[in-house]
Amino acid sequence: MHNQIALPNQQRTTIQAQTSNLRAELEQLQYQFDVFSALLKLVIIVCAGLAAFYFIPFAQQQSISALIISLSFLMITIVSFILLRTTTLATLGMNARIWLAAALWVVSSFGLLQQTNEYLLISALGGTIIVVLAIFLETQRAALVWALLTILGYIAALVLRPLIQFPAFDLGVVRDIVVYSIPIVVLFILATVGRVTTQYLRASWLRADARTRQLEQQEKQLRAITTEAQEARARAEESDRVKSAFLASMSHELRTPLNAVINFTRFVLEQDAGPTNEEQTELLTEVVNSGKHLLNLINDVLDMSKIEAGSLSLFIEDGVDLNNIFDTLTATARSLLVDKPIVIKTEIEPDLPTLRGDRQRIFQIFLNILANACKFTEQGEIVITAKRSGDKVLVSFKDTGPGIANSDQALVFSAFKQTQTGLRGSGGTGLGMAISKSLAEAHKGQIWLHSELGRGSTFFVSLPIKAAELVPSIS
Ligand code: ADP
Repeated sequence: MHNQIALPNQQRTTIQAQTSNLRAELEQLQYQFDVFSALLKLVIIVCAGLAAFYFIPFAQQQSISALIISLSFLMITIVSFILLRTTTLATLGMNARIWLAAALWVVSSFGLLQQTNEYLLISALGGTIIVVLAIFLETQRAALVWALLTILGYIAALVLRPLIQFPAFDLGVVRDIVVYSIPIVVLFILATVGRVTTQYLRASWLRADARTRQLEQQEKQLRAITTEAQEARARAEESDRVKSAFLASMSHELRTPLNAVINFTRFVLEQDAGPTNEEQTELLTEVVNSGKHLLNLINDVLDMSKIEAGSLSLFIEDGVDLNNIFDTLTATARSLLVDKPIVIKTEIEPDLPTLRGDRQRIFQIFLNILANACKFTEQGEIVITAKRSGDKVLVSFKDTGPGIANSDQALVFSAFKQTQTGLRGSGGTGLGMAISKSLAEAHKGQIWLHSELGRGSTFFVSLPIKAAELVPSIS
């Protein structure tokens, strides 16, 4: 029952965890997408301007270097424009890489193809931007690769500049604009990334805050439900206790008049009140038998209610001799079997140790099991075995009766539960085995059974020889 409820819950928790992971990944992707889009817009404006500026020295001085730089800026402008139009969350990873590669080329060629060192420094600044953006847009490992490539690009520009002599060109009036505005543009780019990041962090902080409040609310509800459940449980326990107390006192009150009925009927049967004829004797015998049956039933109910109320007390003593108990048991079993073709066998280990426990109750545990074996078995044998096993004594009762189906075995030790055989076979109450189980446990022992439908049953009782928890009532 418990497992049936637990499984879907577990699945739901896993699905919830997966969903929240996915949601976090999606938020992260959305953030990268926003950073990328903002960056592309800036790059389009700045690089379109730079492409135009560098085209002037080419037009005036036919400088190939200026043309290459101008074309590079034009290329990154066009690439950025296309990427801004086409990038979706699904293509973000791939497109960011394309853009980073194009930007790396632009930055390196910018540093390589101009004559003064300040351009090299500006290209280094551009390289730094590429690394920063790679950190935002890529995984940690890929960002490291981009950093390495950028450094290599810078070194290549540094090394190649003196080796390959590009004809110099003059930017003219726009030179100062390029030199002084590019650091400002770089700052702008960083500010844009910062702005998107702040927005993102703020949104996720708000979400986390809302979630915390929701959790607090749920916790409050849970606490209220728990208190309610505890109160309901306390009420149920109290009414259970009252019911058990009522049953105990009622059973007690019923036993006294019932004993009187049985005993006075016996007197009459034994002719103490004058002679009775055959028919009267037969009827009075029926009264005594029914009275005894009812008395057993009341005793069982009384025991069960005491067990449930936790008020069953044991009369513990040392030296409980199982041999005596087995002698009385077999005699009782024979009287129960009368006409049935059943052999009772005992296999009691010699030198069986005496036990610490309640003699009467131990007898009751065994009698309940044996009486069932006699009741349900029609022919064959009942074998009682007893042997020492470590610091315990193991007793078993094997019969050749109808057996108990696997699915029914859990019912056997539950109060007021009977299997199909039990319901068909006799007027039992379904209390005997539940009482035996509780009594065995009260002795710190155990009771269990092995059975197969149609192949008889074996009940086992294991009792500690001297359980430390059991304190003798008289020492
Ligand atoms: P009952 O008063 O019905 O005998 P018990 O608690 O003693 O109640 O036993 C519970 C049920 O377990 C019985 O009704 C019967 O169905 C089953 N049972 C107990 N002992 C045996 C046995 N030796 N063989 C077959 N069924 C048994």
